[in-house]
Amino acid sequence: MQLTSPVTDIKGVGKDAEQKLAILGIHTVSDLINYYPRRYDDYSNVQAIRAITPGMVTIKATIKQAAGRYVRRGMHITEAVASDDSGSTKLVWFNQPYRAAALKPDTDYYISGDFGLRSQRLSILNPSVELVGNFVINTARIVPIYRETKGLKSGQIRKYIREVSSLVNSLPETLPEWLVDEERLISRSEALSQIHFPASSESLSVAKRRLGFEEVFELTLSALMNKYELLKEHTSSITFDKKLAQEFVRHLPFTMTDDQKRVVWQIYQDLQKEIPMNRLVEGDVGSGKTVVAAMAAVMAIKQGFQVAFMAPTELLARQHAETIAKLLEPLGMGALVGLLVGGLKPVDKKRAHSAVASGEMMFIVGTHAIIAEKVDMHNLGLVIIDEQHRFGVQQRKKLETKVGHAVHVLSMTATPIPRSLALTLYGELDVSIISTKPANRKPIKTKLVPFASRAQLYESLKDQLVTGRQVFVVCPLVSPSDMVPAKSAEKVYDELSKKFLKDWRVGLLHGQMKSAAKEAVMQAFLDHKLDVLVSTTVIEVGVDVPNAGVMIIESAERFGLAQIHQLRGRVGRSEHQGYCFLVLSDNKAPSSRLRAVQSSSDGFKLAEYDLELRGPGAIYGTMQHGQLDLRIAKLSDVRLIASARKAAQSFLDKGESLGQFKELEGRVLKAMAVTNLN
Ligand code: ADP
Ligand code: MG
Repeated sequence: MQLTSPVTDIKGVGKDAEQKLAILGIHTVSDLINYYPRRYDDYSNVQAIRAITPGMVTIKATIKQAAGRYVRRGMHITEAVASDDSGSTKLVWFNQPYRAAALKPDTDYYISGDFGLRSQRLSILNPSVELVGNFVINTARIVPIYRETKGLKSGQIRKYIREVSSLVNSLPETLPEWLVDEERLISRSEALSQIHFPASSESLSVAKRRLGFEEVFELTLSALMNKYELLKEHTSSITFDKKLAQEFVRHLPFTMTDDQKRVVWQIYQDLQKEIPMNRLVEGDVGSGKTVVAAMAAVMAIKQGFQVAFMAPTELLARQHAETIAKLLEPLGMGALVGLLVGGLKPVDKKRAHSAVASGEMMFIVGTHAIIAEKVDMHNLGLVIIDEQHRFGVQQRKKLETKVGHAVHVLSMTATPIPRSLALTLYGELDVSIISTKPANRKPIKTKLVPFASRAQLYESLKDQLVTGRQVFVVCPLVSPSDMVPAKSAEKVYDELSKKFLKDWRVGLLHGQMKSAAKEAVMQAFLDHKLDVLVSTTVIEVGVDVPNAGVMIIESAERFGLAQIHQLRGRVGRSEHQGYCFLVLSDNKAPSSRLRAVQSSSDGFKLAEYDLELRGPGAIYGTMQHGQLDLRIAKLSDVRLIASARKAAQSFLDKGESLGQFKELEGRVLKAMAVTNLN
């Protein structure tokens, strides 16, 4: 038998079991070995019968008087008496008619099961029974529990894995020897053997450490390799011009925060290199990322490089084009800024294309369409992507093929990315963080609202609306759903426009609307032709509406903390006090998660908290991280990640070649494809 053998080569696996195993994704012996337990039941504590108390127990006893009978049709019961030196107890099995015949008299068995009171008598129900002296898999040990499927129980899977144990014991090492030594890891074969049948809870945690380390090592190695790929590329250096930087700052209507200055400086240093920049700027909504980007851009433009700035929506692009033109005006560069979006009139589009090609337009503001457009660039040197965590390696390649050379890339996001993720999933990026906001901002007041107070909340909103403030209402769903008990934008829009706020102008916005309709609604809200905007999270990366003072989040328990934090950042962007109300779906006491978002305004802390509780999906919504399939390691385990990252770095520094470690190579290449994504 080999790792690649089909499961039918395993003793006891027939056609039927083959199909059931296939449902669990297990086709080969290797799949089976790599099918880790979901959890464990600890039956390792063998007790005297006199000492057992109700609950899961294990005893070592002989079995007498085993007898089975049908109590009624289809209901068989086997009863027996188990005895040790200290006493005896009853054993009961339902619908296991083969039991009585299988039990030998005067023989010591380990018996594990649930001890409790049934029909007024204490007994152990449906216990597992194994001969003392054999290698036990179901009793008197820490017992692995696997994800099961109909007709294939954990006990069966245990048996199959036990059948291939000699193969597990001879599995080759997948990591370099020096690494295994340095990290004091146990061998791969030992780890896999222990993950299925741990000798103790200590050896189980040592096995988990080894396998978890390997997972994170693969991930960080793949991220570093992505990074090194980029380091091999070559692009034009954009030199630092101190006078220009000073002039830019002098003309700003405000003083830049220390964080903004520091980040600009980091970007300038990247730009001076002949290696393409790959930097992510993270900063809360309103922390002032646009100015930072513009300041980087002027340096490029002054030296004859074109800059492309891509926003997630056309409306945002339009807003950015205006803001940026104003920022560049005093430097005499205002006229170089132009808009290139899909929605331009054909004649304007044609004009824009030729301006881009001729270099008349040096600062192109648009959506991702810029890359897709059939337009010749004029010495493109810097690409800025707004509100995106990263520009994937694949996207970058596509762009570079289009323009014929490598470019500097700067992405900007309001999503806080915890350090552990920055080192793994985002490991190929250099990260700059703007953690302070401009001084003139008031912290947003956040309040949890039980469902019973919802009507009252909408009533009290009128006070805000009267003073001319605008209100966002965000819902987790577009339409009502029978499956998900949460508020939908359509339903809330109905409630508000027909009942709670019927004298006010209420609008509706969600992702299923056509993009022109979406832009029109957003524009109406921006122009204050609407007082209230009911929407889904599509407004997360919306336009800047300084007049919006209140953010209401319906069925708030449905949202990730980082997401709520980002949403509330959409209000309180002017001198007015901003408010955020988190409306719950019920009247129960709010969870500690939601209380955290009420009491903390630190996006990173909230993201880390959610990462711990709910995994990366909670922070990034629908991102592809499901494909990562980390089964043992937790991406919130900062210490593990730090040591794996260090090891991956040494692996590359030592000039190790992946080709020598075939299995590792396969998995790293797979991880590279995932960490390459956007
Ligand atoms: P974001 O980081 O969300 O993209 P913006 O760049 O849109 O934030 O900035 C939000 C607002 O703050 C803008 O109106 C901008 O002009 C203003 N702003 C940026 N930096 C400062 C600063 N240092 N002091 C005061 N206002 C600033
Ligand atoms: Mg922005």
